[in-house]
Amino acid sequence: MLKHLAVNIAFGILLVGWAVVGMPWYWLLPLFAVHGGILFFWSYFIQLNFFVKAHCRGADTDKAVALTFDDGPDATFTPMLLDVLKKHNAKATFFLIGKNIAGSEGLVQRMVDEGHTVGNHSYNHAFWFDLYPAKRVLEELKLTDETIKKVIGKKPLLFRPPYGVTNPPIAKAVKRGRYEVIGWNVRSLDTMAKTEVELAQRVFPKCEKGNIFLFHDTSEKTVKVIDQLLEKLTKDGLRAVTVDELLDIKAYEID
Ligand SMILES: [Zn+2]
Repeated sequence: MLKHLAVNIAFGILLVGWAVVGMPWYWLLPLFAVHGGILFFWSYFIQLNFFVKAHCRGADTDKAVALTFDDGPDATFTPMLLDVLKKHNAKATFFLIGKNIAGSEGLVQRMVDEGHTVGNHSYNHAFWFDLYPAKRVLEELKLTDETIKKVIGKKPLLFRPPYGVTNPPIAKAVKRGRYEVIGWNVRSLDTMAKTEVELAQRVFPKCEKGNIFLFHDTSEKTVKVIDQLLEKLTKDGLRAVTVDELLDIKAYEID
């Protein structure tokens, strides 16, 4: 947020400079283009904490990492993943799309019963989510909260922005809803990986304490690689814990 403010102040100073010096109007074009470009480009890098403070890695004092899964629940792959996590006695965090919960309530309850954490990943995960005004963003988040609360009896506090995009309306909604924004520092790109080997090669070298991995519980490939990854983590002396445990923050608001 401070970085956003700093960019706007710098832009303001340049505008004042433009006015004072009396430069031709067309000098404004590159100025606005650079300012817009910076905001657009940085909105895609959650790790920069440009608009929103996002937790993107944990402390490396504990021998633990956090595996996070977006876009579920998925009737086919989420149960397979839960079985794999259970086999390794590993805990994970699921960022759920609200509309996907209907018909999969049992899976969400199972996540919580088995010690995993659930968080909010918007209601529709719309392609245009990052263009919504703050009010609409907050409405979506609250709808997902209510849907989750109906199943597990508690309101999530953790939010993972769709596509990892952050911008001023999302920042405003997050502040109003008092969410903790969860990013990542290891992006598996599992939805783009063509083979299990490719995915495994990308994530295996990233088994370092404190890391937060981003996966999706939407393919068998991911489930299989998670099975191998958990084996490797155990060999490396690392535990997979929920992201709230890794960050030592609260995952739910209980009233
Ligand atoms: Zn997503």
